[in-house]
Amino acid sequence: MSGPPEQRPPPPTPDGTLLPPEELRRRVYLLALAAGLIVLTIVFAVGNFQGRTDVYTGVFVPALTIMVLFSTGWLLARRSVPFIERAVFICMNVAHLAQILEQTLGPDPNTLASNDAPYWMLVTVCMVAHLIYRPRIAGLYSAAAYLLSCALPLGGLLLNAQPVSAELVRVQLTAGITLMFVHALSWYRGQFEAQRARLHLAQQLAHTDQLTGLPNRRGLYPAVETLLTPGEGGAVLLLDLDHFKRVNDQYGHQAGDTVLIGAATLTSDLLPSPAVVGRWGGEEFMAVLPGTDLLTAQVQAARLCRAFAAHHWPGVGRVTVSIGVSVVCHAPNRPPDTLPTLIARADQALYRAKAAGRNSWKADTDPHPPD
Ligand code: GH3
Ligand code: MG
Ligand code: MG
Repeated sequence: MSGPPEQRPPPPTPDGTLLPPEELRRRVYLLALAAGLIVLTIVFAVGNFQGRTDVYTGVFVPALTIMVLFSTGWLLARRSVPFIERAVFICMNVAHLAQILEQTLGPDPNTLASNDAPYWMLVTVCMVAHLIYRPRIAGLYSAAAYLLSCALPLGGLLLNAQPVSAELVRVQLTAGITLMFVHALSWYRGQFEAQRARLHLAQQLAHTDQLTGLPNRRGLYPAVETLLTPGEGGAVLLLDLDHFKRVNDQYGHQAGDTVLIGAATLTSDLLPSPAVVGRWGGEEFMAVLPGTDLLTAQVQAARLCRAFAAHHWPGVGRVTVSIGVSVVCHAPNRPPDTLPTLIARADQALYRAKAAGRNSWKADTDPHPPD
C-alpha cells in the first residue's frame, strides 16, 4: 500500500486537437488556391484591360485558372491530397518551363526582366515542392529548377551575342535569394517538427507504464484532478494484488510480470467507460471512475474482486485482489477534497480490506469525519 502523493506534475500537453497531416494540407491548399484564384483573376482582368495578346495572358493564365478551379473542386470533394499535389506540381513545372522557353526563344530573352512572371512561377513551384517533398529533395529540386531557369535565357542571349541586361540579372538574383529563404524556412520547420515529435514521445513515455501500457502514477494524476474539479466528482478504487510476492517467489519474476499485464487487462475490460485504469506502482492499480457515487463504486469493486477470484492464471493459479474505495467529498462546511486526501482515504480503506483477510473490498464509508 502507498501513501498520498506529495507532488503534482503538470498534466501532459493535450494533442487531441491537432489535425491529421492530410487534413491540415487540404486546408492549407484550399487557402492557397483561393489566394491563387484572386491573383489570377486580377492578372487576367489587368491583361485584358491593357489589351495584351501575349501567350502568358491568353493561354497560361486561363489554363492555370482551370487547374486551380479543378484542384479546389477535388479538395472540396475530399479526394486524394497526394494525387492533386503531384498533378498540380507537374502542371506548374510544365507551365514554368513553357514560359521560360517562350521568352528564351523570343527575339529578346531580356524581356524576362520586364515580365518576371516566370520567376514568380518558379518560386511558387519550389514552395509547392517544399510542401510535398522532404527538405533535402525539395532543396535539390529548387537548385536544379533555378539553375535551368537562369541558364536558358542567359544561354540564349550568349548564343545570339546579345547583351545581358542588369535588370534580368537583378530579377534572377532576387528569385535565387527568395528560394534560399524558402529552403531555410522549410529546414527550420523540419527541425521544429522533429523536436516536437521527440517531446511528444518523451511525454508519452513519462506518463505510461512500460510493462502494462497503462498510464503510470504521473499519467493518472490528470484523471484524478478532473474528479476534484467543482461540479465533477467521482470515485477512485485502489487495487492491490494479494500475496503477490509469493507469485514471484514460487513461479518467477517473469510469471509475475505476465500476471500484472493480465491484471491490467482484466481491470480495464471490466470497468465501464469513462473509467481510467492505471498502474499506481508495483502490484497496485488505480481505477478512476468519473461521476460515480459511493454505491456504484462499491458495486464495481465487488465485481472486480469476484472477477479476480474466479480467474485462473495459466501456470500460476488464482491471484486475488483487495480494493479500497473512496469518493470525492462535497460536504458543506468541510474543506474540499484534494488529491492527497482522496487517495489517502482509498489507501486506508485498502488497508482495512487487507486486514479483513484480503480478497475483499472496503469503502471509505465515512468521508465526512468530524473535525
Ligand atoms: P499483500 O497481500 O500484503 O499486498 O502482499 P504482497 O506480497 O502482494 O505485497 P508485498 O508488498 O510484500 O510485495 C509486493 C511484491 O510485488 C513484491 C515485488 O517483488 C512485486 N512486484 C512489484 N513490482 C513488480 C513487477 O513489476 N514485476 C513483478 N514480477 N513483481 C513486482
Ligand atoms: Mg502493495
Ligand atoms: Mg500486494
